[in-house]
Amino acid sequence: MKYNENNIFAKILRKEIPCKKIYEDDYVLSFYDINPQKKIHALVIPKGKYIDLDDFSLNASSEEIVGLLKGINIVAKKLGISSDMGKGYRALANISEHGGQEVPHLHFHLFGGEKVGKMVE
Ligand code: AMP
Repeated sequence: MKYNENNIFAKILRKEIPCKKIYEDDYVLSFYDINPQKKIHALVIPKGKYIDLDDFSLNASSEEIVGLLKGINIVAKKLGISSDMGKGYRALANISEHGGQEVPHLHFHLFGGEKVGKMVE
């Protein structure tokens, strides 16, 4: 599958549509989910054009992979939900059809601020 340049997160990265930004560096952009499922619901996306976690794992550079994982921790700290600063959270990536992925640009959901509940409904 080819990366779709018109997906909503690509537009956010190009600043064609706004987002409620939490954090940005060379590797990631993080912003609040428009339709929060928990008290805190943030998204962390890589700046590179990757469709999903499999595409990212296969094709991203080592720097990009480290940058994304470090970015998740930086955002969790900023939100006060990391395991050292707060009470923890769930990081979740939906992958393709059976994973329920709607936006075809890799993103991690960070859910927290309250007990997140059952892992799979
Ligand atoms: P997924 O089902 O894993 O692809 O999740 C896509 C997520 O993107 C959903 O939780 C949506 O609420 C969220 N979303 C869609 N459009 C926007 C937007 N413009 N800004 C922030 N979050 C968005």
